Amino acid sequence: MIKERQIIYKKELATNIYEMLIEAPKVARAAHAGQFVLIMVDEKGERVPMTLVDWNPEVGWIKIVYQEVGTSTIKLSMKKVGDEIYYIAGPLGHPSRVSKFGNVLMVGGGVGIPALYPIARELKRLGNRVITVIGAKTSNALIYEKEMSEVSDEVYITTDNGSKGIKGFTVDAVKLLLNNGEKFDAVWAVGPALMMKAVAEVTNGKIPVSYSSLNSIMVCGVGMCGACRVTVGNKTLLTCVDGPEFDSYQVNWKELTIRLQAYKKEEMISLEMLKGAGKV
Ligand SMILES: Cc1cc2nc3c(=O)[nH]c(=O)nc-3n(C[C@H](O)[C@H](O)[C@H](O)COP(=O)(O)OP(=O)(O)OC[C@H]3O[C@@H](n4cnc5c(N)ncnc54)[C@H](O)[C@@H]3O)c2cc1C
Repeated sequence: MIKERQIIYKKELATNIYEMLIEAPKVARAAHAGQFVLIMVDEKGERVPMTLVDWNPEVGWIKIVYQEVGTSTIKLSMKKVGDEIYYIAGPLGHPSRVSKFGNVLMVGGGVGIPALYPIARELKRLGNRVITVIGAKTSNALIYEKEMSEVSDEVYITTDNGSKGIKGFTVDAVKLLLNNGEKFDAVWAVGPALMMKAVAEVTNGKIPVSYSSLNSIMVCGVGMCGACRVTVGNKTLLTCVDGPEFDSYQVNWKELTIRLQAYKKEEMISLEMLKGAGKV
């Protein structure tokens, strides 16, 4: 019998990027596109936010896709199929504000592409024309192309080195589409903060509705600690309870990118300790 929080499936999609199916029936029953869970890998671990990429309310699993970047995500990768995750809380955050817009542009970068998938699926289900731009550093690092194609009318690919699709960044493909006279009613961007900032800059004034899913550093996830605070339209808001999606044209991107670096030293120390313990 599968136990709650047990890993049902795990696959490396690209170097250091993993897809994982976890038994979490309560989360699966309540999940909506755009929401996330907090995961504690073991009892000494920190709570790391992970976007819900997919879920099955009948069978009771949730799917996450994550990139190994530091201690917690490396520890998560050490878990095998059949192992249990210590703690999962969710679904958290507001669902994406999807509706029938008309023409919608979806822009995903790296590990942000799977996070974009359930939002695109929902927008397609609601009858929107979904045009997607996805990008990665190289063709080998590109994930979720097939899944995004299934929920999009058109998919454009960019790679930094030109090994697949257009050579350049996702924002370059967005500029091409806009210069070719494509008209969009809404745009969603999920990926690195610099990518979301660049997309906001080129679409501002051209696409009326724009959302970005912010990846602020988060600690409690329930609005108590303030670690994930962001400035949006001159208001201080919390990514965990007010987001994670915000109006891209109102986000203070400079502050977000500075705050993402706030614990660099501690993260390095934590990684060195993990290595010192012979775990990496
Ligand atoms: C709402 C939300 C949803 C997220 N969903 C996903 C997801 O689906 N898949 C996924 O791979 N990641 C996701 N993230 C980012 C993920 O939570 C972090 O990468 C993770 O916490 C890193 O933990 P760590 O201990 O492995 O690395 P750390 O040692 O904490 O950090 C290692 C490196 O990653 C950077 N980093 C740390 N936290 C973040 C962050 N929140 N965003 C961006 N960079 C960060 C650090 O600056 C550092 O350079 C999400 C973040 C938020 C806020």
